[in-house]
Amino acid sequence: MKRFIILLFALLMMGCGHVDREPEMVTIRGVVFGTYYTIIYYDEGGRNYQVSIDSLFREFNRSLSFYDQHSLLSRINRNEETAVDKYVDVVLHRSLEIAEETDGAFDPTVFPLVDAWGFGFSDRSAHAAEKVDSILEFVGIDQVWIDDGHIRKADDRVQLDFNAIAKGYAADLVGKLLESKGVTSYLVELGGDLTAGAEKPDGSLWRIGLEVPAKDAVAPQEWEYYVEISHMGLATSGDYRRYFEDEDGLRYSHTIDPDTGFPVDHHLMSVSVFAPDGMSADAYATAFMVMGLDQAIAFVENREDLEAYFVYAADTPEAFGYHASSGLVLLTRDDL
Ligand code: ADP
Ligand code: MG
Repeated sequence: MKRFIILLFALLMMGCGHVDREPEMVTIRGVVFGTYYTIIYYDEGGRNYQVSIDSLFREFNRSLSFYDQHSLLSRINRNEETAVDKYVDVVLHRSLEIAEETDGAFDPTVFPLVDAWGFGFSDRSAHAAEKVDSILEFVGIDQVWIDDGHIRKADDRVQLDFNAIAKGYAADLVGKLLESKGVTSYLVELGGDLTAGAEKPDGSLWRIGLEVPAKDAVAPQEWEYYVEISHMGLATSGDYRRYFEDEDGLRYSHTIDPDTGFPVDHHLMSVSVFAPDGMSADAYATAFMVMGLDQAIAFVENREDLEAYFVYAADTPEAFGYHASSGLVLLTRDDL
C-alpha cells in the first residue's frame, strides 16, 4: 500500500510538469597509479567526464608520480628542482601537518628506509638492518620545509615519498573536478581508497563493504561489515597484500616505523580510516599502522573528525579480531 501511495504521488507530481530530469548514474572505470579506479556519480545529462579525469591524472602524475623519472617529485628527489607546484605544495603541507600530529608515525621523508627494505627502486639490501642508523640521520620532518615556493632540505640525501597520501589526494581532486561540473553526488575509488561526495539523488548514502584481511596476496576478498557514508574520505592500510617474505618465511611490511627505521611488526593487520577528506584518511591509515592498535585507538577517540575500523590478528592464524571506534556504525548483511 505504501508503495502504491508513493507511486501515486510521483504520478501527480509529473502531472504538474514540475519534475526535473532524473539524474543518471554514470560509472567510469580505468587504470591509474598502477591500480584500478571506479568513479560513480549522478549527472542530469548523464555526461561522461572520463577524458577530463584522465587528463587530471596525467597532470597529477607529471607532478607527483614516484615512478616517472621526469615528474617534479623525481626531480626534487634528485635535487634538480626546488620550485614546488600546487600539487607538491598541498601534499607536502598536509604531510607535514599529519606527521606533526602523529608524532612522526606518518613521515613523508621515509623513502630512503623504504628503499633499503626493498619497497622502493632497489632490491632489499641484505644489510638493511645495519644501514638503518645511518639512514635515520636524514629522515624526519625537520629535514624538509617549503620556503617561498621552494623545497628546502637539511641534507641532500632527503627524499620525499607521498605514496601513503597521494592516492587519497587524487581521489579528492577527482571529486573537486566533478563538483566544478555541477556534480555533487559521487563516489571516487582509487585502488581501495575512497572519496564520497553528497548522498545519492534518492537520499541514500554510499554503501561500502569493509574487507576482511585475506591470509595472503591471492586469497579472494570477503566482506563482513558495511558502512554508509557521504562527504568524507575512507582509506585502508594493511600489509596482508603487500609484504616481503624472506628465506625464513619472515614477513616484512611495506610500512616503515620512522622512529626505529624498521618495518612495522605488530598484530594490527589493517585499518580503515574515515576522515573529512581522502588525503587525510590515506595518511592517517598509514600512521595508524605504525602506531599499532592501542595507540591508534586512543588517537582516534581523541579526535571528533576521525573514525576507524581495525582488524588485528588474534591467537590463531585464521582468527581475526575487530575493533570499531565509538562513532562508527557498522552494518551487517542482515541490516541491509
Ligand atoms: P597502504 O595500502 O598500506 O596504505 P600505501 O601505498 O597507501 O599502502 O602506503 C604505503 C607506502 O607508503 C609505502 O610503500 C611507502 O612508500 C610509504 N610509507 C611507508 N611507511 C611510511 C610512513 N611511516 N610514513 C609515510 N609513508 C610511508
Ligand atoms: Mg594508503
